[in-house]
Amino acid sequence: MKDGKCPKCGSMEVYSSVDLMLKGGPFGSNSIPVSLTSMAALDNYVCTDCGKVESYVADDDKLNEIASKWKPVNRDSSAE
Ligand SMILES: [Zn+2]
Repeated sequence: MKDGKCPKCGSMEVYSSVDLMLKGGPFGSNSIPVSLTSMAALDNYVCTDCGKVESYVADDDKLNEIASKWKPVNRDSSAE
């Protein structure tokens, strides 16, 4: 979806909030909790033809933080 094409309906009418000033949204509504003291703002991609929304964590530092603090979903624990 980041390439401007909707994966659901194939439309090129995809808009993003990447350049939005207040990415975090009012009261952090457009963000996800990373830890007790940390929130990660999201970039949203919206298809204006079918309404599909995709969200991406905007900040690389937050991605690293998530990788170190969250539990992997599908990883063989014996491989670590
Ligand atoms: Zn679409």
